[in-house]
Amino acid sequence: MQYVKDLPEYIHQVPNTGFSNVYLLEVDPQSLILIDSGTASAGSKILSYLGSIGKDISSIRYVILTHADADHSGSAAHIKRLSGAKIAIHVDDAPRIAGEKKLKEMTGLTGRLLGLFLGFMKIEKIQPDIKLNNGDTIGPLSIIHTPGHTDGSICLYKSNDILFSGDTIIVDNHGFPRLPSSYLNKDTNQLKKSVEKISSLEFSTLLPGHGKPIFSNASALLREYVSNGFRR
Ligand SMILES: [Zn+2]
Repeated sequence: MQYVKDLPEYIHQVPNTGFSNVYLLEVDPQSLILIDSGTASAGSKILSYLGSIGKDISSIRYVILTHADADHSGSAAHIKRLSGAKIAIHVDDAPRIAGEKKLKEMTGLTGRLLGLFLGFMKIEKIQPDIKLNNGDTIGPLSIIHTPGHTDGSICLYKSNDILFSGDTIIVDNHGFPRLPSSYLNKDTNQLKKSVEKISSLEFSTLLPGHGKPIFSNASALLREYVSNGFRR
């Protein structure tokens, strides 16, 4: 059973995880990689989806977090406890989920106000098992460090095929790639440089942290957005 049509058979999008997306990649029938864990309440959604496709929670071998934000890392501790999966996150965001640094620092007035609000969105602290660096690989995925939204944001690239973009690039209501709102980013200029970097890759499918996936011509659409000065 495939929740999102058009995804290749070995990739699943977990349904009902709210506004942030959670994906499962089957490396083989007994080995799954969870890409982002959603909010703290997404853990039960992940469990029931696994049940619906006849998989056991212990088949999750890795949880790769595209960045530390609570809407992506919120269920990591829960899933690790149940599955024994290894938690992987970029070395620069690792201290944020471990509780050694503030989870999120936001800029500008809107950002600071939202930061106060998000401060209430607590996550269970967790020590990552794997601290990722640019160029590392897990299964078929290469880690690309794309700082800007957070210091340790990453994209996961399956060569010539798929990009999991986290919040480095999200997809708007019209199905086009775009940057997250600047008040959510640590450094939007740095983010733009990161997006320029990934726009030189080839991929047909873009699986973002927010918004619906793009299933064809995704890297061409991204290049168009970048060459338009990040405007559409
Ligand atoms: Zn997010």
